[in-house]
Amino acid sequence: MSTQTFLNYVNGEWTGGSATFENRNPANTDEVVGLFAKGAARDVSDAADAAHAAFPGWASMNGPARGNILYKAADILDRKFDAIAAEMTREEGKTLPEAKGEVRRSINIFRYFAGEGSRMPGMLVPSERDRVHMFALRKPLGVTGLVTPWNFPSAIPAWKLAPALICGNTVVLKPASSAPLSAWRLVEALHEAGIPKGVVNFVAGPGGALGQALVDTKALKAISFTGSCQIGEWLHGEASKRRLRIQLEMGGKNPTIVLGDCDFNASVENVVNAAFFSTGQKCTATSRAIVEESIYDKFVDALVERTKKLKVGDGMKPDVHIGPAVDQAQLETDLRYIEIGKKEGAALKIGGNRLTGPEYDKGFFVEPTIFSEVTEKMTIAQEEIFGPVLAVMRAKDFTDAMRIANNIPFGLSASVQTTNLSRTFEFIYGMEAGLLTVNLPSAGVEYQLPFGGTKDSSFGPKEQGPAALDFYSDYKTIYLKY
Ligand code: NAP
Repeated sequence: MSTQTFLNYVNGEWTGGSATFENRNPANTDEVVGLFAKGAARDVSDAADAAHAAFPGWASMNGPARGNILYKAADILDRKFDAIAAEMTREEGKTLPEAKGEVRRSINIFRYFAGEGSRMPGMLVPSERDRVHMFALRKPLGVTGLVTPWNFPSAIPAWKLAPALICGNTVVLKPASSAPLSAWRLVEALHEAGIPKGVVNFVAGPGGALGQALVDTKALKAISFTGSCQIGEWLHGEASKRRLRIQLEMGGKNPTIVLGDCDFNASVENVVNAAFFSTGQKCTATSRAIVEESIYDKFVDALVERTKKLKVGDGMKPDVHIGPAVDQAQLETDLRYIEIGKKEGAALKIGGNRLTGPEYDKGFFVEPTIFSEVTEKMTIAQEEIFGPVLAVMRAKDFTDAMRIANNIPFGLSASVQTTNLSRTFEFIYGMEAGLLTVNLPSAGVEYQLPFGGTKDSSFGPKEQGPAALDFYSDYKTIYLKY
């Protein structure tokens, strides 16, 4: 069977394809999942021109009508649900149940924001003056650039596309080169749902060249970016020169605090789930378990025993819990940090190697890895790895655990495992992170509430939930005398 080429989508047409790049399966690099049209700067500027031309028509369409297109796209995705989830496993490596969960989330996100088209809450307040009616309407911004990473290749594009569109903006989407197909399927669904030409545009290709072209685009009004701190920082610099509205969701080094009074077995399960599922490649994954002294040794032993039961392999196989790293570069990053951990004196309790053998040789498989006796200054306690590597740290008590947890530049997600109500609230008020969980894994968020971090992890208004509308719209305030 010949490999399919997936084209870019500009001004309602499928375009490009004379130059392509490969999308390979990280569990089996012999398999090319698809070829993608390799966009260039010119494609980005054509896409932005198309989005600019489409903006007045889309912005003036009423909200429920825009919502109907999102509902239709959600139904189309639902009909192709199994095939799209399987493609995600093949392009990104996460297990099939995880991929199904993500595609379901994208469908729910489309439906949630479709509903916002019928609400689009503004403000209506009483005036100090008689017979003056004062209110504020939301209005769209214009052309928005969406730049997305590979780790949630469908949900992240979905949680940017849906609120951008429902607010009346037009879009240029640049997906991650390692996993562009899941985002392409969202755009295909919008096309099939009848979205007017130019409203959504999709250009795949190298981030550096396309990112520069995007920020150079005159029509652009806003950028929403999810990815590494390094690229986010660069984009922020470029965006400020032009006073573009910008939203950045970036790296993390998320802690789970485990206290002596926790539900022990449930906490082991939560930490293992948050550290290793999706190969530790969730931005909200736990990479530091900060465990109270009183249960430290017993907890480390239990983590190791539970981790021994995890099966690594091709995510399409039903008995597999952990898929491969997304690509060679991420695999090398994982292995490099494991070596650093060993050199800096952390105790390697389990894992630490690339997996080899017939089941593994064609993929980027690394063992789930646990280091204990990790101290605050060690590199693996401070830097984001984005792989299945857990640093377990010792805390004297709750206060010490909070101090350690907060002693990093990041602030994306954090979790506490405790049955003590006072500690729970002290955690909620004292923890420097945007997403908190209690007695749950640090990863595993829904779409109905604001999403995003604090400190170096994030910048700008939050994504998802009602908060998403604040990034993708502006207020127009009206005073009316009658
Ligand atoms: P990345 O390397 O920063 O890439 C993210 C996106 O930016 C990709 O589409 C990439 O394109 C593009 N890009 C690369 N260079 C660019 C440039 N100069 N200008 C504009 N865009 C450019 O990140 P990643 O490796 O895909 O994702 C992993 C990172 O994302 C981790 O740090 C993780 O913590 C973070 N993340 C954060 C969240 C959150 O919500 N906070 C969620 C998920 C992931 P190419 O693929 O073509 O290079």
